[in-house]
Amino acid sequence: MTAGTNPYTDPTARRAFLDREARLRQLPPVERDFVRLGEMPDLNRWLEQVRATGGCAEPVYLAGHTTTLDADTGEVLRHYSTATEPGGRLVVRCRNRRASRCAPCSREHSGDTFHLVRSGLVGGKGVPETVRTHPRLFVTLTAPSFGPVHRAGDCHLARRRRCEHGSRQGCGRTHLVADPLVGQPLCTDCYDYPGHVLWNAMAPALWKAFRDNLYHHLAARAGVARSEVRTLVRVSAAKVAEYQKRGAVHFHAVVRLDGPDGPSVPPPSWATGDLLLKAVRSAAAAVALPCPDPVACGGGRLSFGTQLDVHPLINGEGGRISDDAVAAYVAKYTSKSVEAAGAVDRRIESLVEIRALRVSPHVRALITTAWRIGGLPELQHLRLRAWAHMLGYRGHCLTKTRDYSTTYGQLRGARAEHARGLYVGWDDETVVEGAWRFAGTGHTPAEALIATGIAEDLATNRDIVRAEQVRERP
Ligand SMILES: [Zn+2]
Ligand SMILES: [Zn+2]
Ligand SMILES: [Zn+2]
Repeated sequence: MTAGTNPYTDPTARRAFLDREARLRQLPPVERDFVRLGEMPDLNRWLEQVRATGGCAEPVYLAGHTTTLDADTGEVLRHYSTATEPGGRLVVRCRNRRASRCAPCSREHSGDTFHLVRSGLVGGKGVPETVRTHPRLFVTLTAPSFGPVHRAGDCHLARRRRCEHGSRQGCGRTHLVADPLVGQPLCTDCYDYPGHVLWNAMAPALWKAFRDNLYHHLAARAGVARSEVRTLVRVSAAKVAEYQKRGAVHFHAVVRLDGPDGPSVPPPSWATGDLLLKAVRSAAAAVALPCPDPVACGGGRLSFGTQLDVHPLINGEGGRISDDAVAAYVAKYTSKSVEAAGAVDRRIESLVEIRALRVSPHVRALITTAWRIGGLPELQHLRLRAWAHMLGYRGHCLTKTRDYSTTYGQLRGARAEHARGLYVGWDDETVVEGAWRFAGTGHTPAEALIATGIAEDLATNRDIVRAEQVRERP
C-alpha cells in the first residue's frame, strides 16, 4: 500500500474507508455480500471452482494438499495444495442425488445412473458390446396390498363391500394420476401400517432372496444341480427402488444372464431369454421371508405382490422397449426417491418433529409407525427410527451386482475432482501423500445466487446440445 492510500496513516484515506464501510452497512445483506465477492482478488478462480462443481447448491470445502512422488526416487511428480486457492480451500460437490436438496448434483447423478444402466445393456464403459446378445429382462417387483387405497382411474372396485369399520373398498370417483388422494387408504383402521413399514424395511432382504431363488429356479428348469448352477451361469442385475404413491417400495430391475466369468462370456445355450423369463416369474413368486415381528404380520410371511411385470429386452429391431428408454426410466427414479410418496428427505429426531411435518395423514401414520415399532428391542437391527423418514426402507436407491457394469466411482474418476488427486494411495510406480480436512459447507447468499445462475446456464447448454443431437438424427 502506497503512502496516501493507507487508512491507518492517511486521514483522507481513513475518511474514505469509513464512509464506504458506513454505506456498505446500509445495504441489504445480499448486496453487501455481492460487493464483498466483487472485491475478492481471486474472483475468477472462485467462479472457475463453482463452475467445476456444476453450480452445486450445498458445496463442501476442503483444505489440504496432495503430493505424488516417484516410488523409487522420491522425486515430486505432482503437487496440489489449496494454499493458493480462494480462501485457502477447494470447493467440491455435495453429490446429493436428491433433486430437493441439490438440483445440479441430482442431475449429474441421474446422468451417471443412465450411463451405468445403459452400459450394462448395450456395452461401453468397460463392458463388452456382446452383452446385447445375452438374455436381458426389465422386471418390476411390487409390494403386496396392506389394505385398500384410492386408485388412479376408476376407484370403485368392489364398492359394495364395506369393512368392519363401515368403509367402502373404493370411493366411486375417477382419480387422475396426480390426484393427492391416489394411494391414500380407504380405511386407516384396516390398513396394516406395521406390515407396510416392515415390508419396506425387509425389501433389500426380499430382493436378495429373489436373486438366490433365481439361481435355484434356473437350475431346476435347466435340469442342473443347484450346487453347479453358479459355475455355469451368472445373473447380473441393476435395480432401482421407487416409492409408489401409497409409500411402498417397489423395484425396477434389469436382469441379465452372463457366462460364469461375467459379461465377456456368453451364457450356456440352454440359458435362453424364455427360460430366464419363466425363472424370474417363479423365483419372485416363491420369495417368502419370516416377518421380523410375528405379532405385526399376524404370523405371516413377507412376499412380493402379485403384480409382476417382466419385459424381454430384445436386441435390435422388434424390441418392444429400447435399451435407452430403460436406462432413462431407471435413472429418473434415483433423483425422486421418497419425496415422490410425499415423505421427507431428512432424518427425524423425535416424535414431536413427526407431528410438525407437512405430510399427508397416511405418510405421517407410516412415519409414526416406523418410530413406534422402531423402539421395540426385537426390531433394533432394522434401525427403523433412523430410517423413519424413508418409511422404513434403508437400502440404497440403486444397487447392482459387481459384474453388471461400471461403478459411480469409475464414472466420476474421469472427472476433474479426481484428477486433482483427492485420494491417498499408491501403485507400483508412485506414492501419493496427502492431508485433507473439512473446511465448511454451503454458500453465502450472493454465492448461492451466482451458483444457481451457473447451474441454470449449464442445464440450458445441455438442453441445447440434446435438442441438436435429436435434430441431427435421420
Ligand atoms: Zn450439490
Ligand atoms: Zn377413490
Ligand atoms: Zn376398516
